[in-house]
Amino acid sequence: MFKAFLIKYGEIAIKGKNRYLFEDALLAQIRHALKEADGSFRVTKEQGRMYVEALEEFDYEEAVEALKRVFGIVGICPVVILEDEGFERLAEEVVSYLRRRYGDCEKTFKVQARRARKTYPLPSMELNARLGGRILDSFPGMRVNVHDPELMLHVEIREKIYLYSDVIPGPGGMPVGTNGKSMLLLSGGIDSPVAGWMVAKRGVKIDAVYFHAPPYTSERAKQKVVDLAAKVARYAGPVYLYVVNFTDIQLYIYEKCPHEELTIIMRRYMMRIAERIAEKTGSLGLITGESIGQVASQTVQSLAATNEVCTMPVFRPLIAFDKEDIVKISKEIDTYETSIQPFEDCCTIFVAKHPVTKPNIKVIKRSETKLAEKIDAMVEEAIETAELIVSG
Ligand code: ATP
Ligand code: MG
Repeated sequence: MFKAFLIKYGEIAIKGKNRYLFEDALLAQIRHALKEADGSFRVTKEQGRMYVEALEEFDYEEAVEALKRVFGIVGICPVVILEDEGFERLAEEVVSYLRRRYGDCEKTFKVQARRARKTYPLPSMELNARLGGRILDSFPGMRVNVHDPELMLHVEIREKIYLYSDVIPGPGGMPVGTNGKSMLLLSGGIDSPVAGWMVAKRGVKIDAVYFHAPPYTSERAKQKVVDLAAKVARYAGPVYLYVVNFTDIQLYIYEKCPHEELTIIMRRYMMRIAERIAEKTGSLGLITGESIGQVASQTVQSLAATNEVCTMPVFRPLIAFDKEDIVKISKEIDTYETSIQPFEDCCTIFVAKHPVTKPNIKVIKRSETKLAEKIDAMVEEAIETAELIVSG
């Protein structure tokens, strides 16, 4: 029945010059998302409206699911597009539309005509009244209610005529690409993919970095992160994932520093390296999946110690979330099943039995001086040899 969609997007964020940026980014993300749906589509914008039209047979459900992943869309309206062949023909089409869509429906309704083509012979008010009359004649169970109708039939007169009555809610947010780019520290866990998704929802383009420690962390663990990047890319993509070989740095810290400080020092080096790659690749912030108190490395003191090495803003959208709320989102965005695969992203030999939970930054810095001989060269090497994997 439907071969096209009218896309509704948030009007508040798009005043003046921003409008073009917003719409162009939305257009690009719609095209990106629809690559996953069966069919080929034309995406166009005209006069403050955006349309997706199927050019051939297509999978309706897949197309709707794809559009539901595009941030910035507030409503997806399946629309019937008609040639303008006069009022009589339009009235027949409207009745036939309602019958096909709702059967012999018994609802309160309102016709909402909008004449974008001003040369159309009937004014909107008259169209509303005349089409409403035809509907009442054809459906004994229908009643008009202009204040709170169950069914709102939109009739938009443009070059062609557009009929729609359903609005499927979109995800809201802002189109990816309208708010700069940030670097997500992506592990194989539940939290970081959710954090990336949340920041992307605010219009931020996402790059990602994963710290891999072969042979202590397996190829399967790396593959899991690649898969998670691809899942995030369905919403935010394409995503550039940098895989950093972290083994030598971890072993060196293990050799030189007190074991109860391992995690915190490791995390400080992750942040330093992530920030360096972010600077090189045009990201303006870092994103982590940290949440206060979740583990020893996420006490407020630990977060402060981790944060201290960065000058870029670090976005931690999950900071005050309970785990179960994070799990709920991860299920909704379909990262959960991948995240719970049992391939550890961090080797147990690097996790102390009694890690410090209230690290003192001065003490940590003193421990880090023991790394002075080789660490800078190791960091350079890790950055230079990072492997780039593009998803989506
Ligand atoms: P997650 O579920 O995201 O793995 P977590 O609860 O396991 O988080 P930590 O292991 O303390 O918590 O990691 C905190 C944050 O640090 C992660 O959310 C992620 O942003 C980042 N991080 C941890 N390990 C890695 C890694 N190997 N590569 C990249 N980022 C990492
Ligand atoms: Mg983790």
